[in-house]
Amino acid sequence: MRILIVEDEKKTSAFIQKGLTEQGFVTASAGDGEEGLDVAMTEKFDALIVDVMLPRRNGWSLVQQLRAGQVDTPVLFLTARDSVEDRVKGLELGADDYLVKPFAFSELLARVRTLLRRAPARRMDLYTVGDLEIDLPRWRAQRAGQELQLTPKEFLLLTHLAKSAGEVLTRESIVEHVWDIHFNPCANVLDVMMRRLRAKVDHPFEKKLLHTVRGVGYVLKAD
Ligand code: CA
Repeated sequence: MRILIVEDEKKTSAFIQKGLTEQGFVTASAGDGEEGLDVAMTEKFDALIVDVMLPRRNGWSLVQQLRAGQVDTPVLFLTARDSVEDRVKGLELGADDYLVKPFAFSELLARVRTLLRRAPARRMDLYTVGDLEIDLPRWRAQRAGQELQLTPKEFLLLTHLAKSAGEVLTRESIVEHVWDIHFNPCANVLDVMMRRLRAKVDHPFEKKLLHTVRGVGYVLKAD
């Protein structure tokens, strides 16, 4: 059982890691929200323990991005704030449980075990567009059986397009979904990302799957 701890307070992180390791868990840690998101998207974990107040990207945003990318790993939020609004917000964003600081390790352990018992019922998906296959649980994409080396953001973008294969997605909706919702849709980061994605997904192959709909957005389709 692998557990990722995303917590910027070194003492708290070390305390949790030590306790979980003693209980036979394998742990990994990240010290800020961006690092946590990267690690959570590129490696497989059975549960995540995420502090709400984190530098670079807060815990809510981290979980929101994970869920947007269909990463369904159960999450236990750690929070110093015990307000109803915070809990509701977290649960809406796809957190599974809350633990208010300070807490006893025995309580954390009990919550983690409950999360792990609930975990196997979650739905996982596989998407196919022509000879492109996206395996969400394994976080892998292939074309004609050839593994594509994608960054987490490229993978998110491709998955988002694949889920609506054949439908034209507007630039705004893509940016909103794949990046933070406050992201400025006029910026050219989407075009840059699309060029990179095309270079990996389409250029080595004869049949093109990614199509630009001028003035509107993009569509992923096999014919
Ligand atoms: Ca913190």
